[in-house]
Amino acid sequence: MSREKTIFTRIIEGELPCHKLFEDEYVIAFLDIQPLARGHTLVVPKESAPSMDKLSAESASALGRSLPSLCRAVMRATGATAYNLLQNNGREAGMSVPHVHIHIIPRYPDSTHSFLWGPGEIDHSEASKLAEAISATMD
Ligand code: AMP
Repeated sequence: MSREKTIFTRIIEGELPCHKLFEDEYVIAFLDIQPLARGHTLVVPKESAPSMDKLSAESASALGRSLPSLCRAVMRATGATAYNLLQNNGREAGMSVPHVHIHIIPRYPDSTHSFLWGPGEIDHSEASKLAEAISATMD
C-alpha cells in the first residue's frame, strides 16, 4: 500500500521550496520553517521511511555521515555556543512529519528553550533482563 507523499518528499522532489543547506544522493538538509532557534536545521534522508527503525542501513549511514560537517557548519555560520540533536519517531513522540529527520537546534547564551525531563531511577535487576531482551531481539 503506497503512503501519501510527505512534505519532505515534496521538498526533495522540488515540488515545495526550502532554504537548502546541503544535498547529496541520499540526504538533504534545510532550515526548519518554524525554527526553535536561529539556524534550526532539518537533516532528512531522501528515502521516505516513517521512523528510524524502518530506515535502510544505507540511508542511515549517509545520514550519520552528513551530521558532523552539518553541525560544524551550523555552529560556524550562526555563532551558536552549543546545539541539540533531536529525532522524534511516531506521533506520540512528537513527530509531526512522518519522514525520518534529525533536528539540529542551535543554542545561544540567551536561549530559553529546554528539553528537560525528570530522570527516573534504574532497577538494576530488571535492567539487566531488559538489556538482554533488547540485545537478543536485534536483527
Ligand atoms: P517533528 O515534529 O520532529 O516531526 O518535526 C517536523 C518539523 O518540520 C517541524 O519543526 C516543522 O516546523 C518542520 N517543517 C514542517 N514543514 C516544513 C517545511 N515545509 N519546510 C521546513 N520545515 C518544515
